[in-house]
Amino acid sequence: MFDDQLQDNQLQVIGITRKFGSFTALDDVSIDVRRGEFLTLLGPSGSGKSTLLNILAGFDAPTEGRLVQDGHDVTRKPAEARNFGMVFQGYALFPHMSVARNVAFPLRVRKVPESEQKRRVAEVLERVGLSAHADKLPRQLSGGQQQRVALARALVFSPDVLLLDEPLSALDKNLREQLQLEFQRIHREFKTTFIFVTHDQTEALALSSRIAIFNRGRLMQMDGPTDIYTRPSSRFVAEFLGQIN
Ligand code: ADP
Ligand code: MG
Repeated sequence: MFDDQLQDNQLQVIGITRKFGSFTALDDVSIDVRRGEFLTLLGPSGSGKSTLLNILAGFDAPTEGRLVQDGHDVTRKPAEARNFGMVFQGYALFPHMSVARNVAFPLRVRKVPESEQKRRVAEVLERVGLSAHADKLPRQLSGGQQQRVALARALVFSPDVLLLDEPLSALDKNLREQLQLEFQRIHREFKTTFIFVTHDQTEALALSSRIAIFNRGRLMQMDGPTDIYTRPSSRFVAEFLGQIN
């Protein structure tokens, strides 16, 4: 009990409900996000994962409940008030801009001085292994490289939290596994909190420090990967994890 209270909670999701008309997409969800963790939101299609991520990002507001960041209520604050990076599936790169200009974009928006932009873009491209491709256009890169550019663009302004909505789901299996390893390495190196959405059980088990399992808008269980796998708390969780291919 005491340990829980001492935990450094960066983000507190408190009793969040989101209704669309009479349909409840999220039903009284509470999660404490620990600083620096790799938290995965796992669940079948339609379980409310993206709805929650959009609320965390500030693109949407809950019908009920609160979102607290570092002790401050940000529930009704705009997206710009949170220093969150985002990587979404199909969150397209600007096709007419070079890789370097794509990555610099969030810095230009924030009016970071030109020399500082150059330095930070070079550093982050080095880290994701794309230095040699800085002057290319997105269409000259492979799908995996493009997803790495999106990751670099989200990391370049040192976000407090990185939100990732099924960033690997469109990629083939080999590439997906390769990028999973890279996401793990990058998470370790940047020490940023990752909140990662997937419907893929294997991916969640491979990547996460904790997994939150959703079904029909409800948080069913939240635990470390081993615990959740060996001690599922409901039939739904056991069956959903049992579907690993
Ligand atoms: P997931 O990301 O887990 O696949 P979503 O969060 O996208 O699920 O959606 C959860 C449920 O909420 C789905 O049934 C979806 O149809 C519904 N939903 C999501 N956004 C809206 C919206 N803007 N209007 C109406 N229903 C929505
Ligand atoms: Mg989704």
